[in-house]
Amino acid sequence: MSRQRWIYAGFLVLLMLGPIILPEFYVTLLNYIGLYAIVALGLVLLTGVGGLTSFGQAAFVGLGAYTTAYLTTATELSAWLAPFGQSPWLALLVGLVLTALVAFVLGALTLRLSGHYLPLGTIAWGISIYFLFGNLEFLGGHTGITGIPSLSLLGLELKLGRDFYFLIWIALLAAVWLTQNLLDSREGRAIRALKGGTLMAEAMGVNTARSKIVIFLIAALYACISGWLYAHLQRFVNPTPFSLHIGIEYLFMAVLGGAAHVWGALLGAGVITILKQWLQDFLPKILGSSGNFEVIVFGLMMVLILQRARDGLWPILARFVPNVAEKGSQRQISQAEPLPKKASLQAGNKLLEVGDVVKKFGGLVACNRMNLSVQSGEVLALIGPNGAGKSTMFNCISGVDPASSGEIHFLGERIDQLNSREIARRGMSRTFQHVRLLPAMSVLENVAIGAHLRGSKGVLSALLHLDRVEEKRLMAEAARQIERVGLTQHMFDQAGSLPLGQQRILEIARALAADPLLLLLDEPAAGLRYLEKQALADLLRRLRAEGMGILLVEHDVDFVMGLADRVVVMEFGEKIAEGLPEQVQKNPAVLEAYLGGVA
Ligand code: ADP
Ligand code: MG
Repeated sequence: MSRQRWIYAGFLVLLMLGPIILPEFYVTLLNYIGLYAIVALGLVLLTGVGGLTSFGQAAFVGLGAYTTAYLTTATELSAWLAPFGQSPWLALLVGLVLTALVAFVLGALTLRLSGHYLPLGTIAWGISIYFLFGNLEFLGGHTGITGIPSLSLLGLELKLGRDFYFLIWIALLAAVWLTQNLLDSREGRAIRALKGGTLMAEAMGVNTARSKIVIFLIAALYACISGWLYAHLQRFVNPTPFSLHIGIEYLFMAVLGGAAHVWGALLGAGVITILKQWLQDFLPKILGSSGNFEVIVFGLMMVLILQRARDGLWPILARFVPNVAEKGSQRQISQAEPLPKKASLQAGNKLLEVGDVVKKFGGLVACNRMNLSVQSGEVLALIGPNGAGKSTMFNCISGVDPASSGEIHFLGERIDQLNSREIARRGMSRTFQHVRLLPAMSVLENVAIGAHLRGSKGVLSALLHLDRVEEKRLMAEAARQIERVGLTQHMFDQAGSLPLGQQRILEIARALAADPLLLLLDEPAAGLRYLEKQALADLLRRLRAEGMGILLVEHDVDFVMGLADRVVVMEFGEKIAEGLPEQVQKNPAVLEAYLGGVA
């Protein structure tokens, strides 16, 4: 057994022994830690991994708690609700459905907000739902609801905290397992890609709006389950534990523990809960007066953490645990049946046709009536001085930043009205001049994002680990592309640790993993050494021989001239020349505009 397994096993044994050897007080404390950790885990996914900050999680906890409180205590439920009042387990079902509905609506309204508006939005609904609890008469107003029944499980009534302990911790461990599964999957990589901005993920075919809603829903459902458990543990509810103040505390737990790590949720919930308990006893004693002094200490701690340990406490703790994450991904690269490929085209088929494309940024015309075309089995180089509009052209073609006017056809279909995701699906893949990758993820995982559209397993399969066959195929494909571009020895390195030139090569592998018919490369040779450039040119020649079309923006004229079949030259947003490399090289306008400047 590996050391990591031993640690897990030891942890489980301690957990099982907990309620047997500990006094009631500590069992209660552990119950609360478990309940808080479930909510914090949702925030790890939403905020830590997905980059979406929510202060409003306590409201979802309240939704779970109040739904079951109301359904299991109300004396006169309307006919259609009556069956759900019979059992807390049915009430949980109602709570989950209700939470999902509310979260879906709130998410649809607020997740589109960017920057600071999203956290502000979550504060707004956090406050609203809290006041709703306090002001609705049938929910008991500020006094709340009492007389909530205890839970029964397999004929056992869970009356004491000790009885509840196992249910809470099984729920938490199940949530950890599900979350870990999700993160280690195709959908998980899409979710992790959100943090790098949506532009790259969309260009790889990820529906980022959907990914955001998914993690928002999961986080809300975890909170709902925690609230349901809480209501039946406490046997009464009132609005206080669901206030914005507590919502901030949940976020604090996730950040303190290590917002991007599933176990950070447990660590954060544990540290905060124990510390709070201790400070509540200790501070009034030394200060000689009563009050919520712990809030001040927490505030200071938060500032300290943000200053000194952005990633929270978990990474510090994890240094003592051998890292098997890498071994895990190595294991995934086993023999797997290759993914299906698009039928490659005969050389000479028209792939891309750009007609009279204009792109304006306010008053600036970055591309003016640009025309070009690319065939399969051809390398077309787009060259021109800095600021000529080459990258802008790329963005128009790939749907990242749509053209102001003009028409673009790909494989005979008009695509200038489509978004980048839809264009990617049709067989066009690109790299970015300013590298866009996820620096903390391995090279392998980064490349696997490129294969997103070649998989189909969704969130449910991922949560339940039913996606392993496809996952193996995706990983094998990513590994194959990494080998193809010559990065094999860096397969498991963090992408951010590579020199810039190799990060560009990584982007090419990622683009190739999409199985494109047309490849758009924006300055791929920048930052490469001579031999690396030679290797890149060889690779592009091989791809061309396989029938791929390549549109290449490049600064290095020698590189282009030795490789391109045809060259288009841009200056100030306009095409000033087009032709065979040797013709363009002699063109006086080009010499003046571009080559002259370089020589
Ligand atoms: P190149 O890739 O040929 O060096 P770009 O396409 O990046 O040139 O830029 C062309 C022109 O468009 C430049 O003047 C640049 O400042 C401008 N530009 C590019 N992107 C934007 C944008 N998003 N907003 C405003 N101006 C832009
Ligand atoms: Mg550019």
